[in-house]
Amino acid sequence: MNLDLNEEQKLIKDTARDFATAELEPVAAGLDQGRDEEIFLTNLKKLAELGFMGLNVQDQYGGSEAGVVAFSVAMTEIARACASTAVTVSVNNMVSEVIQALGSEEQKMKYIPKICNGDYQAAAFALTEPGAGSDPAGMTTTAVRDGEDWILNGSKIFITSASYAGVFVVWAVTDPQAEKGKGISTFLIERGTPGLLIGKKEEKMGQHASTTNEVLLQDCRVPGDALMGNLNSGFRVAVGELAGGRIGIGSLALGVGRAAMDYATRYSLERSQFGQKISEFQAIQWKIADMYTRLEASRLLLMNASYKKEQGRSFTKEASMAKVFATESANMACYEAMQILGGYGYTRDFPIERYARDARITTIYEGTSEIQRLIIAREILRSFSAQ
Ligand SMILES: Cc1cc2nc3c(=O)[nH]c(=O)nc-3n(C[C@H](O)[C@H](O)[C@H](O)COP(=O)(O)OP(=O)(O)OC[C@H]3O[C@@H](n4cnc5c(N)ncnc54)[C@H](O)[C@@H]3O)c2cc1C
Repeated sequence: MNLDLNEEQKLIKDTARDFATAELEPVAAGLDQGRDEEIFLTNLKKLAELGFMGLNVQDQYGGSEAGVVAFSVAMTEIARACASTAVTVSVNNMVSEVIQALGSEEQKMKYIPKICNGDYQAAAFALTEPGAGSDPAGMTTTAVRDGEDWILNGSKIFITSASYAGVFVVWAVTDPQAEKGKGISTFLIERGTPGLLIGKKEEKMGQHASTTNEVLLQDCRVPGDALMGNLNSGFRVAVGELAGGRIGIGSLALGVGRAAMDYATRYSLERSQFGQKISEFQAIQWKIADMYTRLEASRLLLMNASYKKEQGRSFTKEASMAKVFATESANMACYEAMQILGGYGYTRDFPIERYARDARITTIYEGTSEIQRLIIAREILRSFSAQ
């Protein structure tokens, strides 16, 4: 058993870290305060050129073919510097992968290279609706046949990158009479298609540079070949892709948690109270030990889920365990890091309050912690009843 990264994975990790340190870290605080949007998009393009938008996508579609472990470590390195950039990269990878898994050869050749090379700036995964969040099978957006075309109506909410995405993967009900979850199909819609409108921009607590918008579908007419995969089999696909996406979000959370932990650890070695460094107080040492242990356990859970996915093995339970543990540990690390910095940690002069705000959403999007526990328990109970 070997838990070390191989040479290619190490190279990707180092490339991500070097880029994050040189290009992302210096602008992250400005991006958080609404400045430098152009730099954000420029950095996405540079990351595409470095091969980070299709890490688990085949070379023939413009991907890097580096695998899931490489994707996970790259996400962590990017998120250490800028969580907004990391979530955008994670969703782009997710969309590239869903098209690779489901698309026709023509769809793969048409869309994936433009995500991987940055021509599209970003790609959007449009599943959630105002009345269908944790329960996406309850969606009400419809796609109705009209000759060869499809006409979509409905609204999606909280869609990452929608304001600049070049392509949208959209789920809609194609058979309203079918049993719940069995009448949903997947569509690929390009930006600028009449009837696909970008609605309200959410004002969020964190991850400010990553935009989150409503997407409205108003008599949005798309050709027959916009349908991706089999008719009425879209829900299963969405659920499968979300499992992979959870590795991305867990890895992102790990990066933010580490950034907070490293900052607080260095601070504790410099700050003195009662005539000694605060790192010499046992109460502070315990916080450092707990943060480190939980984040290291998160890393190992993420590596396990990534490895299983890479091997083509079942990884649903592993991805959910990694997501719930890594995201909750990252939140804990940010909270404890703030405690180590005392009052300074609560101010904007230090990055900890930004890390804490950026980490908070990770236990919510791509499936809340409650939903992850539901999935984990379901998988365990199923394995027991099969015995
Ligand atoms: C910044 C941001 C970016 C996002 N990006 C995207 C995106 O790109 N694409 C996309 O499709 N969606 C996106 N989302 C949506 C996100 O995935 C949903 O917000 C999330 O899945 C939760 O859905 P909800 O907000 O409707 O909460 P609800 O489903 O209403 O849940 C509310 C509470 O009830 C709990 N709950 C619900 N059902 C159960 C249950 N069965 N058992 C126990 N507890 C339960 C939840 O855990 C939660 O605590 C994004 C959201 C945000 C905030």
